[in-house]
Amino acid sequence: MTKQPTVLVTGGAGYVGSHVCKALHRSGFTPVTLDNLSTGHRQAVQWGPLEIGDVRDADFVAEAMTRHKTAAVLHFAALSLVGESAAKPYEYYDNNVGGAISLVAAMRRCGVSRIVFSSTCAIYGMPDRLPIEETEFARPINVYGRTKLAVENFLADTAATGAIRTVMLRYFNAAGADGDGNIGEAHTTETHLVPLAIQAALDPRRPLNVFGSDYPTADGTCERDYVHVEDLAEAHIQALAFLETTGGSRAYNLGTGNPVSVRQVIRAVERVLGTTVPVVEAPRRAGDPPRLFAAPGLAERDLGWVATRSDIESIVESAVRWHRSNVFSVAV
Ligand code: UDP
Repeated sequence: MTKQPTVLVTGGAGYVGSHVCKALHRSGFTPVTLDNLSTGHRQAVQWGPLEIGDVRDADFVAEAMTRHKTAAVLHFAALSLVGESAAKPYEYYDNNVGGAISLVAAMRRCGVSRIVFSSTCAIYGMPDRLPIEETEFARPINVYGRTKLAVENFLADTAATGAIRTVMLRYFNAAGADGDGNIGEAHTTETHLVPLAIQAALDPRRPLNVFGSDYPTADGTCERDYVHVEDLAEAHIQALAFLETTGGSRAYNLGTGNPVSVRQVIRAVERVLGTTVPVVEAPRRAGDPPRLFAAPGLAERDLGWVATRSDIESIVESAVRWHRSNVFSVAV
């Protein structure tokens, strides 16, 4: 029997990382999760071994890579709260940028050249043009986005020397949960709209703050491009295949191209749950652009990636299913 190729997944115990591990397993890979469990959940690691440790520890990473005969790396491990990032720039640069540098050092030591990087549309800041193309000027407006852009630049510069080959995937708004309901979004500090709207619907004591109702949009609330986490997961499998034959560095938007407003998300939650979402009309949140949505054509052209389950109703249905069966919502 041929052994399945092993892929190192840093941050594989986190939200997107765990969904990617499941997709990797389904596609015939063995995902080895490397995670310090600072925000990830041990219970989310179900499709391969777990190495508990820090991505900034190059010796530890290199040893794990060698022991598991790693063929490629998927890099998710990062701090990812926009608000927190302003108060903790050292921690964000150290974890996100320092972590990537240390990881690439370990890869070079072990002769591993392929890396898929979990990037974000936060690198675009307030874009000049919509939908956002990959060629849009990257001007992040928060520390989190600046650390992700710094990593993109580092990976692209390293790839230019031929030392690595990289695909950088710029997620728009990741949401939803795995169809079987055994993993989902379980952040200790939840800041995202979809889980908060579901929580508000189920617990009227915790109404949803609608951050700004006076934006220049059709219903006055911000519009975003919500992508089902299972669609995102699929893109990583396609990126790995792409890197088998392609060198250098490429960056791709992962979005649907369809803007959805805060009120439309609320209505979808109300339809799925058959109840009202109690809301408080709150002031605008600092740094929220009115509209953000992707031009997703490049990912389709190069990777063959198309979002197939990212209509807001399907996203909310899967998130509700997860919320109801969630066995590890308590922080680990
Ligand atoms: N939002 C909101 N109330 C909340 C959380 C988010 O009105 O409690 C809005 C937020 O202003 C943004 C959209 O929902 O327009 C998506 O926010 P989220 O934090 O989920 O993702 P972001 O787009 O900031 O990455």
